[in-house]
Amino acid sequence: MRIPLIAGNWKMNNGVKEAQELASALSSMVGARPEIGQRVEVLLCPPFTSISAVATALGDSSIKLGAQNVHWEESGAFTGEISPAMLRELGCEYAIVGHSERRQYFEESDATINRRLRGAIKGGLKPIICVGETKEQRDQGRTEEILREQVSDGLVGLTEMDALKVTVAYEPLWAIGTGQAATPADANTAAAFIRHLLVETFSEDTAEQIRVQYGGSVKPGNIATFMGQPDIDGALVGGASLQADSFYRIAEGAVGGQ
Ligand code: PEP
Repeated sequence: MRIPLIAGNWKMNNGVKEAQELASALSSMVGARPEIGQRVEVLLCPPFTSISAVATALGDSSIKLGAQNVHWEESGAFTGEISPAMLRELGCEYAIVGHSERRQYFEESDATINRRLRGAIKGGLKPIICVGETKEQRDQGRTEEILREQVSDGLVGLTEMDALKVTVAYEPLWAIGTGQAATPADANTAAAFIRHLLVETFSEDTAEQIRVQYGGSVKPGNIATFMGQPDIDGALVGGASLQADSFYRIAEGAVGGQ
């Protein structure tokens, strides 16, 4: 049984004060509905500089903490990077790797993403690897080719035990921040294809245990339809995770849509 993961990626938003306020509000809201924390994992991924403040604000809340990226080494001469050990020290359990904005604006390749992912696992974190096609690639009928490349290169070198720590987020680029979410059926087709790739790479049993999220313009009004799909195990949420009310309603909707 896969417990759905509802993750909020705050991107480069929310300095310490705003982060504290948002995390406190969410902690109270989710705390008042214990079944949310029992039936879905709720995760916040603030910018690095706000992680500590969010950890304090969350206290013993069921809401989990993660980072938006991570380096593969535990320490060393890697200016501007943050290690798995540093994130664990702050209370992070998860780290996103390979978000499309990292691929697009910072030239992250499948090879560096794979190093980050393996470093995260080695360092005791659970990676969420983002994969997905552009509009142009979709129009050219290349969605499966792109997913195959990103999944196989991104997950190369993992044992089955490692793979169980991974969540894959299917995030078609044309749906991110555009208000144009994929249809639940299309998102499920892609998620099912990703699971098929996981069967090929690992085994049926392992693939059945790995979560595949959908991300791209998820809102309180559409989360239940995504959660009703058999191969979708939660959502990676950008814009709608920046307000306590909308992110809370997504978490609530995820419980209802199961
Ligand atoms: C994202 O950036 O991962 C994302 C899914 O953003 P949004 O929800 O705003 O489309």
